[in-house]
Amino acid sequence: MSTSSESYHGLGYVDVHCHLIHDKFKGIEDEIALKCKTAGMDFVVVNGLEPISNRQVLELCNKHKPYLLPALGIYPLDAACNVITEANWNHPFPPPEKFDVDAEVDFIDEMAGNKLIAAVGECGLDKHYLTDDTSMQEQERVLRKLMKVMDACWLLPLFCFAVVTVHCPG
Ligand SMILES: [Zn+2]
Repeated sequence: MSTSSESYHGLGYVDVHCHLIHDKFKGIEDEIALKCKTAGMDFVVVNGLEPISNRQVLELCNKHKPYLLPALGIYPLDAACNVITEANWNHPFPPPEKFDVDAEVDFIDEMAGNKLIAAVGECGLDKHYLTDDTSMQEQERVLRKLMKVMDACWLLPLFCFAVVTVHCPG
């Protein structure tokens, strides 16, 4: 097994998608971040899902610069939060909280424009939990807006690969 310094083109191991901002890791985020570093990860891209976790991602990554890289996004189900009704939500768990989705895209765009995020994510389309046309159209509308934001993300020139983390089940 090669070490990070022997890796392809000098670039070591990069985790391009993780959710350190998850209830499961509450209170031990810093410990996990340090463990990843000790284990040989060069960079870890931490993904946000909606306004609350997006801000938590920024805060955590700011504490672990430049090792943790922030990616802000809107999870597909959250993207559709304002068009979810009792008719199109038929699951045993509650639907996502409603928020101003377009204002959040603007916030992500602002962060990208100021070079404060490395990538856009999480974003995408989810046809597993939402299958109706209205929800899918709303998910697609938000995804298209987020795809425009990724042009400003600085991970592209640095790594020449994905600056977007796409969620696509169903
Ligand atoms: Zn994810």
